[in-house]
Amino acid sequence: MDGSAVPTGHWPRSLWAHTAPQTPANPPVEGVVDADVTVIGAGFTGLRAALALAEAGSRVVVLDAGDVGWGASGRTGGQVNPMMPFNAPSRIREMVGAATFERLAETSLNSADELFTLIKTYQIDCQARQKGWLRVAHGPKAMRKARADIKGWNDLGAQMEVIGSDEVCRLSGSPAYQGGVVNPRGGAIHPLMYARGLAAAAVSRGAQIFGGSPVTDLSQTEGGWTATTPKGQVRSEWVIVATNGYSDDLIPNLDRTVIPITPIQIATDPLPDEVIDTILPMGHTISDSRRVIMYARREPDNRIVYGGHGTSDRQGNLRGFDWLVRDAERVFPQLKGANWTHRWGGRIAITDDHMPHLHEPAKGLLAGLGYNGRGVAMSNIMGRIMAERALGAAHDTLPLPVTKVAPIPMRQLKVFGLPWVVKGMKMLDRWETR
Ligand SMILES: Cc1cc2nc3c(=O)[nH]c(=O)nc-3n(C[C@H](O)[C@H](O)[C@H](O)COP(=O)(O)OP(=O)(O)OC[C@H]3O[C@@H](n4cnc5c(N)ncnc54)[C@H](O)[C@@H]3O)c2cc1C
Repeated sequence: MDGSAVPTGHWPRSLWAHTAPQTPANPPVEGVVDADVTVIGAGFTGLRAALALAEAGSRVVVLDAGDVGWGASGRTGGQVNPMMPFNAPSRIREMVGAATFERLAETSLNSADELFTLIKTYQIDCQARQKGWLRVAHGPKAMRKARADIKGWNDLGAQMEVIGSDEVCRLSGSPAYQGGVVNPRGGAIHPLMYARGLAAAAVSRGAQIFGGSPVTDLSQTEGGWTATTPKGQVRSEWVIVATNGYSDDLIPNLDRTVIPITPIQIATDPLPDEVIDTILPMGHTISDSRRVIMYARREPDNRIVYGGHGTSDRQGNLRGFDWLVRDAERVFPQLKGANWTHRWGGRIAITDDHMPHLHEPAKGLLAGLGYNGRGVAMSNIMGRIMAERALGAAHDTLPLPVTKVAPIPMRQLKVFGLPWVVKGMKMLDRWETR
């Protein structure tokens, strides 16, 4: 893990950290602990795996360098968007094969429903609302692509609806878009409350969760694996690595299978009625089709949360907020002069093929990562299926193929070149928006 990933012990000044009820920090693991499964990473992926394992009677220990929700999960936009991003269904079928595709398509289409059902089942208090997701098109070409993609997903049962510019304007409150797609299964959660609720559900079923416990070494032993932290060790038959954008080389080369990028977000003060009533009045979440996308949501206390692409320096300082404020005011002119009280961001993982990756590089070792910015619903699936695998499910029953840990070719170049690529993408977006 590089310097900027090491938790400082302070929460980023996110709206979520500000509005979630305070909970005591989980202490570090000390001494030697035996378990059936060790989960590394207490984000949505790791916590979902822990809950499923604990529910099935496994002894499960979760270790996080920071604490529950410290990574992307506690800072995310919290939009629960079903379906895989970027790739059309026909392309995904080619990549994973017909049999896996059937399972993957169904699982991915149902992923938002599955998350909302989980929240209901475990009565997790996280402001969950399934009021639909608006994916809006920034230009005619994007609109044509949306129509084609939606047909592919609707043929599989997605139930999305294409709408024109007047309806987009009515549902979003933004005059900036040509049209779009409504997906009624999307929604939003308070992500830090959800992560903490998931953790509490896992603990109530016997899981142990330790914060301040960076795993510095992972070794295979006769009986399984030993995960070593500064103050303790956990020995178990299985290990689940759920470190996504914060992955290091605990599993050799795992960090090189993804490109970490840094989405950032801003949130307003609660807005006066005459302003908030004009933005996302039906409670949809919204994201757009630009290469450098924006996404936004309206909060129960009348704030707007607006997100987009940012950058981070080696010390973890986030940049790009001025651009984001300008973009928010362009998309929603009603927000001009709003008081943006919170600014934060986190790290996510992009894969070369835009697919989430499930790996099993050695006996008893699993890793699931690479949600390409669509991780809220998909991490729930990944956590569940890694738990199922550790409980004995066969590979050919899982909705994702188990793939090799394969570094991205010329990854370092791609990481260094990213700021220029983003600049180029912003120019293309601007051109197409005109
Ligand atoms: C600003 C932002 C906005 C986003 N918006 C959306 C959105 O609206 N919708 C959507 O679907 N997705 C969104 N995402 C993506 C989504 O949040 C992530 O894909 C998802 O939260 C990933 O969850 P995770 O549990 O796999 O990883 P994380 O939540 O990142 O958790 C990884 C954990 O691993 C821990 N860790 C790493 N290395 C070690 C180690 N060696 N030892 C111990 N612990 C370790 C870290 O401390 C961290 O807590 C957004 C992300 C960000 C940052």
